[in-house]
Amino acid sequence: MRMNLIVTGGAGFIGSHFVLRHVDQYPNDTVVVLDKLTYAADKTFLDPVADSITFIEGDIADQALVTDIVEKHAIDVIVNFAAESHVDNSINDATPFLHTNVIGTQALIEVVKAHPNVRLFHISTDEVYGDIGDDDPSCNVGDALHPSSPYSASKAAAEMLVLAAIRTFGIQAVITRCTNNYGPHQADEKFIPTIIRKALADEPIPVYGTGKNKRDWIYVGDHCDAIETILTVDWKTDQRLIFNIGIDREFENLEVAKMVLDLLGKPHELITFVEDRKGHDWRYAVDSSETRTLGWAPKKEFEDGLKETIEWYRHRMKVQRSRICDV
Ligand code: NAD
Repeated sequence: MRMNLIVTGGAGFIGSHFVLRHVDQYPNDTVVVLDKLTYAADKTFLDPVADSITFIEGDIADQALVTDIVEKHAIDVIVNFAAESHVDNSINDATPFLHTNVIGTQALIEVVKAHPNVRLFHISTDEVYGDIGDDDPSCNVGDALHPSSPYSASKAAAEMLVLAAIRTFGIQAVITRCTNNYGPHQADEKFIPTIIRKALADEPIPVYGTGKNKRDWIYVGDHCDAIETILTVDWKTDQRLIFNIGIDREFENLEVAKMVLDLLGKPHELITFVEDRKGHDWRYAVDSSETRTLGWAPKKEFEDGLKETIEWYRHRMKVQRSRICDV
């Protein structure tokens, strides 16, 4: 069925992949991207579909603006990727995280409250569970939330507001909690882009603490596929409100750094251990069997996804260097 969507944060990492794939798969849908264009955004990611979407620069916390878009474009669903997303930044200053992740989400809730036919697809994170030990079972959607960082606390707060609005006002909404994403378009500051960029420049690669922290890395396209699958569920009859998305293939951070170096033919000696992140989560793992019952399954092998990601950053760095030379 045709849909009219607002994709918030659509000029960021995951949001841009979602938009590019959605326009390709569903060319008859109306896609409006609402993005504040923070440092993490790059509008040029959307260039290939610029003629097929409407791009609006703005803040999700601007309720009047979101209302206007919903009414003007007869929106059916808001897919909310917009967020401040970097844990280290949240440790330095949590204020922007509260603005976008909490106040911004509440503004979207207010809009769907006033427009009961509009569905809210809220993208959350596995980080809301907090960390688990090496031998602990994977987290389930019914588990208690123990966020560790200001970032994950703000995401947990947003989820609570969405769940409260479902219960109190009967809004149509779902929440997804995905594991760490990797792939092209991710902001330079994040872990895998940092390793790749430093390795390509033969610079020391900073790895927090012992490097033994584990993450379940999902290719960004596989995450987007899961979102598309959940979008097809009839939320009015389906009582499931929260879906975990993960691929059950954990790697230690140190292993990931070594894999990137091996793929680039660079020495492991570039790895430099640095003081651990404050409150650094040890391990995340989610049970995504429920999402798999919908027919979704991840497709990308980690090494293939890493190779693709490396090539993307290599090309991007080359373009950036040539721009500097042109000045
Ligand atoms: P990102 O930081 O790359 O992109 C966020 C986008 O949101 C940017 O384009 C930014 O300009 C925009 N934005 C920020 N504040 C805004 C505001 N007030 N109004 C409108 N737009 C605003 O983030 P990402 O990695 O693409 O993550 C997208 C979503 O997925 C986030 O909600 C994040 O919590 C969640 N998530 C991310 C990961 C991951 O590994 N990256 C994993 C699980 C869940």
